[in-house]
Amino acid sequence: MKKRNFKELERFEKELSQCMKCGFCTFFCPIYQETRLESGVARGKTVLIRELKKGALDFTNEMATKINMCLLCRTCVVNCPAKAQTDEIVVAARADYVSNKGLPFLKNILFKWIMPKRNLFGNIVKIASKFQWLLPKTKGKIRHLPDFLSALGKGRNIPSISHNFLRNQVPEVNKPPEGIQTKMKIGYFIGCATDFVYPEVGKAVINFLTHHGIEVFVPKAQGCCGVPIYMSGDFDTGRDLADKNIAAFPDDLEYIVTACATCSSGLKDYAKYLGDTEERKKRYEAFVKKVKDINEFLVDVLKLDLSEYKLKEEYKGKKLTWHDPCHLVRHQNIKEQPRTILNALDGAEFVEMPNADRCCGMGGSFSIYYYDLSKKIAEHKAKGIEASNADIVVTSCPGCMIQLTDITMQHEMDKPVVHIMELLDWEKKEEKKEEKKE
Ligand code: SF4
Ligand code: SF4
Repeated sequence: MKKRNFKELERFEKELSQCMKCGFCTFFCPIYQETRLESGVARGKTVLIRELKKGALDFTNEMATKINMCLLCRTCVVNCPAKAQTDEIVVAARADYVSNKGLPFLKNILFKWIMPKRNLFGNIVKIASKFQWLLPKTKGKIRHLPDFLSALGKGRNIPSISHNFLRNQVPEVNKPPEGIQTKMKIGYFIGCATDFVYPEVGKAVINFLTHHGIEVFVPKAQGCCGVPIYMSGDFDTGRDLADKNIAAFPDDLEYIVTACATCSSGLKDYAKYLGDTEERKKRYEAFVKKVKDINEFLVDVLKLDLSEYKLKEEYKGKKLTWHDPCHLVRHQNIKEQPRTILNALDGAEFVEMPNADRCCGMGGSFSIYYYDLSKKIAEHKAKGIEASNADIVVTSCPGCMIQLTDITMQHEMDKPVVHIMELLDWEKKEEKKEEKKE
């Protein structure tokens, strides 16, 4: 067998030794629950990766399938008595796979030549959006991929691409409106899905923050956070993206805020996965300290008075339920903050759905490669949504929004999926000022 290098797994030696094979994770892993495959669960993955590192197994295509079949949801980690960090060794094994065997042809083009070049990526998405009319539109922004495209989508409902990306709709510098004092300057990290699919979420973030005295800098030079790329094992391109993103945000910004749970988690993980040299690690760690998810920024940093959270008129009288994105609840331990906001909203009722923190099955590109499995995992989420009897499903990750919209539509549930920031009214402050003037 050819000699392999395990540069990344060597950095995760401690994590690789943590599993004691008790099998407790089999009760929780969403993949094992559906497949009953030992290679699908943390214990089995750990054994495979240990054998790989020992040289008893090799980087074969079959091995790639097994290490790629993981949602990186961390359900195993939070339920493991040994706190074995299985997601970290899975990512490190993927990175060693890529450095030994390279990326498959299409992924190589996408990761190295398209996604890192923001304008090219945007233009390709834009061209694709011009052909959206070919797909039948079902409801709102969602289009249904018909059976003839089943190889691509298997009947999946996909969101339509915005004709005007967020970055083209907002200036780089967004100051608080006249009459509102600037308390702080922050950077806003948009994220690809918000930029291309949900620009209204980004505008809601900027409007809410500026109306609360925050100057919001939205650098044009920012790109993809890199999660889909480096979590797939391409650490080299991940580092290029991390370097560019960090350089895009000037040092005088107090925080870097994002409203995408995957992006906030991925930016916070730069130092852990991509900090390969002392210099890089130090630079990444300084950046990571400033990164805040929007929920923790509003509740823990700004510490807004609960009366500052006002519900938009269109959601009054509705019952809201909340889905915890894996990247928020288990990757960042952010659970109470969105509930603080939701409970503060007068005029709507907040109800918990059963198993709100259960993975929705999206897992980024996992749902593309394993759509049938992703759909089975999503069934549990559909049951939770149904049982909540809510009118609106709220979350804080554009990736989850795509999956939850697909799930609710597959089940013909008339329950719109919205981002938590879309619920919040920012205009009240101005109205108050007008009233005072009168
Ligand atoms: S990953 Fe944790 S829960 Fe699973 S077998 Fe290993 S020690 Fe047990
Ligand atoms: S991270 Fe999630 S999908 Fe992967 S092994 Fe753990 S529980 Fe299973």
